Amino acid sequence: MKRALNFNAGPAALPEAVLAKAEKEMMNYRSSGMGVMELSHRSKEFEDINEQTMNLMRSLLSIPDDYEILFLQGGASLQFTMVPMNLLEEGSSASYVLTGTWAEKALKEAQKIGNAVIAASSKDVNYRSIPSTSKFDIPDDSSYLHITTNNTIYGTQWHSFPESLPTPLVADMSSDILSRPLNLSSFGLIYAGAQKNLGPSGVTVVIIHKDLLKRSKTGLPSMLNYQVQAASKSLYNTPPTLSIYFLKLVLEWAEALGGVKQLEMMNKEKAALLYDAIDRSDGFYKGHAEKPSRSLMNITFTLANEDLTSAFLQEAEESGFIGLAGHRSVGGCRASTYNAVPFENVEKLADFMNRFRNRN
Ligand SMILES: *Cc1c(COP(=O)(O)O)cnc(C)c1O
Repeated sequence: MKRALNFNAGPAALPEAVLAKAEKEMMNYRSSGMGVMELSHRSKEFEDINEQTMNLMRSLLSIPDDYEILFLQGGASLQFTMVPMNLLEEGSSASYVLTGTWAEKALKEAQKIGNAVIAASSKDVNYRSIPSTSKFDIPDDSSYLHITTNNTIYGTQWHSFPESLPTPLVADMSSDILSRPLNLSSFGLIYAGAQKNLGPSGVTVVIIHKDLLKRSKTGLPSMLNYQVQAASKSLYNTPPTLSIYFLKLVLEWAEALGGVKQLEMMNKEKAALLYDAIDRSDGFYKGHAEKPSRSLMNITFTLANEDLTSAFLQEAEESGFIGLAGHRSVGGCRASTYNAVPFENVEKLADFMNRFRNRN
């Protein structure tokens, strides 16, 4: 069977070993005579899956005990609403760093809930870089500061995080969670839709410090209340059982590989192949991001004109590469090289880029 050379931005490639394991267990999960999606979410089998997935998450990301892990639905996009609903305190404001389209959306949703302001922005440079921490303008009454650690569309990434902030740091890590080690203590809340680096779509991971849980007001709709979700171990209602099971398989795969340190090394090697192809092309390919802000997950680049870009994308498709067109809002090209994208596939793409350049 031939597998695609999948560079999709999300939903994205899953590890082959994970798909194979899921296939094997599809008809009969651990002698239950049922597939995972047929199990009751109140069954011992599923409760174990839920708990083991949380434990794996905790050990892989070294999440301290004073943080809760939640598995929610609604994607990262619902977190744009839930974060301000739960954390934005009466009479205060929320601060947002704008580094791309997702950050803009997060701000827009927060403004529907309360007073949300811009602490810094790189919009004036077409989101080619991450703003310097020294330029943040955070009001004294700020309830939290929101950042987007990896900007999936523009291909930029934070390589260090603001420290000693006067307010809790909230991060949308949808497209780079589990790609590198983290010092959790710098963050108050992290959220990530699973479909980039963690598994299939359908589950959203939220990691929240217990102190912040106390801010959730009892009057909030139960499904949108972090405290309610935490108290029920994310089993308040029927969870996305199959997505959580896949998340568990992906985390087991990551653990067997050697964890986030190993993944980070592999991600650096993969990204370097493509950035080298760009940097050694004498301007044939132009990287969108400024070098210090380059993403290890989404490599964005342009060619001299529309015709050349179309020819590149067309030939790439004919050669079996999937998902290389840039996001519709920015154009150009984008290769997403998440954890599950094999090194060999990235090597093939770098080769293809070099050959295409030589021919044109
Ligand atoms: C994909 C993405 C989102 C949107 O995720 P959904 O799960 O589709 O809501 C938000 N933020 C970032 C950084 C993303 O990459």
